[in-house]
Amino acid sequence: MKYKLDIKRDVDGPAGDYLLWLPFGFRFSDEIVHVRGFDTIAEIRKAAKNDVVQCDCDDCKKSIAEFKRLFD
Ligand SMILES: [Zn+2]
Repeated sequence: MKYKLDIKRDVDGPAGDYLLWLPFGFRFSDEIVHVRGFDTIAEIRKAAKNDVVQCDCDDCKKSIAEFKRLFD
């Protein structure tokens, strides 16, 4: 499963000071973080394409399990 950027769902904050919140199951590739600040939407698009990998940290695993329990 590859991360697909959804700006409406995942991006927050005023122009020039954006936050990209990755959904559970994804993180940035160079460190185990799920949210990162950006100056421009172009940077967000680039990072979403190149820097996001699947994540199975405890937080993601727990949240995905909980989500499944509630909605399956
Ligand atoms: Zn995670």
